[in-house]
Amino acid sequence: MRPDPLLRLVLAAASLAASPLSAQQAASRDVPSKTGGSRPGIDVLQYTFRVEFPATGAPDTVRLVSTARVLRTAAVTALSLDLVAAMQVDSVQVNARAARFTRPGDSVRVELPAGSGDTLVVGVFHHGAPSDGLVIRRDASGWTAFGDNFPDRARQWLAVVDHPSDKALVDWDVLAPSTHRVIANGALVEETPESGPAATRRTRTRWRTMRPIYPSVMVIGVAPFAVLELGDTACGLGELPGCVRQSVWAAPSQRAVLPGHFARAGDIVAFFSQLVGPFPYEKLAHVSTSTRWGGMENAAAIFYDEKLFRGTGPGEGLIAHETAHQWFGDAVTEREWPHVWLSEGFATYFAALWTEHAQGDSAFRDERVQMRDRVLSAPITMQKAVIDESLTDVRKVLNSNVYQKAGFALHMLRLEIGDAAFFGGIRAYYAAHRHGNAMTSDLQAQFERAAGRPLDWFFAQWMRRPGFAEVTASWRWDAASTRLMVTVAQGARFAPYRLSLAVDVTDAAGATQRARVVVPAATSSTVTVPVMLDSAPAQVIFDADASIMGTVRSR
Ligand SMILES: [Zn+2]
Repeated sequence: MRPDPLLRLVLAAASLAASPLSAQQAASRDVPSKTGGSRPGIDVLQYTFRVEFPATGAPDTVRLVSTARVLRTAAVTALSLDLVAAMQVDSVQVNARAARFTRPGDSVRVELPAGSGDTLVVGVFHHGAPSDGLVIRRDASGWTAFGDNFPDRARQWLAVVDHPSDKALVDWDVLAPSTHRVIANGALVEETPESGPAATRRTRTRWRTMRPIYPSVMVIGVAPFAVLELGDTACGLGELPGCVRQSVWAAPSQRAVLPGHFARAGDIVAFFSQLVGPFPYEKLAHVSTSTRWGGMENAAAIFYDEKLFRGTGPGEGLIAHETAHQWFGDAVTEREWPHVWLSEGFATYFAALWTEHAQGDSAFRDERVQMRDRVLSAPITMQKAVIDESLTDVRKVLNSNVYQKAGFALHMLRLEIGDAAFFGGIRAYYAAHRHGNAMTSDLQAQFERAAGRPLDWFFAQWMRRPGFAEVTASWRWDAASTRLMVTVAQGARFAPYRLSLAVDVTDAAGATQRARVVVPAATSSTVTVPVMLDSAPAQVIFDADASIMGTVRSR
């Protein structure tokens, strides 16, 4: 997702309060996270969520049945599902028979019959007025309801294993007034009006996913939508046969701004499909919603802040960011929250790659400068590493480290190993983990295989340490040997970095060439620039391509 501007201020304030240097001792490998979540011995295969709204009036109460089909891999005798205490549980069934349950904290603990290596169907019948997770709003035209689960708010209205490591198929079965339509993950199965008088008629709408997803991105949207079909896009570029069907779902009053930048939605999906791998889902809907985020990458149904539709609609950068998440975050999901950069860093960098593709090098460079400025001015850069193993509160999982710093690091890695190895590594990583989970070490292994060399030093300095490079560079022309020498000093605040520094050399005739030098991880070093010159250069500029995460000064 991408936060709205107000939230950015909140995040910046929160990061000021964090303790300094607490991540300095970060481990060099992936370690178990402190955010909990996994249920040993249980793997949820599929959820069916039945959601029933009243026939008339704004819904004060929603009735739900959360059914989980689970594989029991060990002899566990209870299943604990996350569900907030405010939701009233009426009954629980296991394999269609009444089962005993308790409600410790924000969970439902269901007793299971003895057994192991079997499949169980656990149904939780519950109701209530969700205060979060499913956000119900009254407005001039009636009411709307939108799921908004990230990061751990699915449990506010659904009984689930609310953690990214347990992905499952989802069936949505929603009964809502026929004045409204329902959008959700997956493919549309049916939209059937019930019989009865029009004033109180309800429609049953079912959506079904063919690919497993994680609870943060399992949503429905219920509203009196106007639907604009964008038609068949990215034909032959999806996992499913045919084309990727895209559409925009907005309030009827927002029709005037459509299609807006969604006119490029087909090109964006085609671009990422060719770069990474086939589009992973059944369709892609873009939805105007009440989400607290600027945009939220719910699988196959991206939710955008409806306020954006009051202006010119969501921008191309936001659409590209949320669309990139369909591959990174949704199809390949971080197994543990401290590795959320595998979602946000990728979405940030792939949106910048769309800029490079659509607008060229100069716009791409401008975007990198913005990313860098953001990181250099954020207090959390000094306090925490991109991979923050000390994270305990998942509501604090998002900051400029996991967006801009991680996205920028991907660009540095691309320069380090070259386009062929970089995009080859990305494609191999995606293919190995799509519709599953991954950790940073999985990505590193794919890049190392593609590049044919160890990259532990790269991930250690950029992902597992706070800080940034502080470079002061100077040059000297050695007339006797006709060599251009560069001396680099690195600041003492952070341990020195190994860097690839661009050196733009303009000769006496006014011609400029770019060379790259490898700067070792040392406080001071002198390297020879690989350029052919007859005489002293007229000008030397360092890091003109804005490709070092840090400050670069000339002396
Ligand atoms: Zn995002």
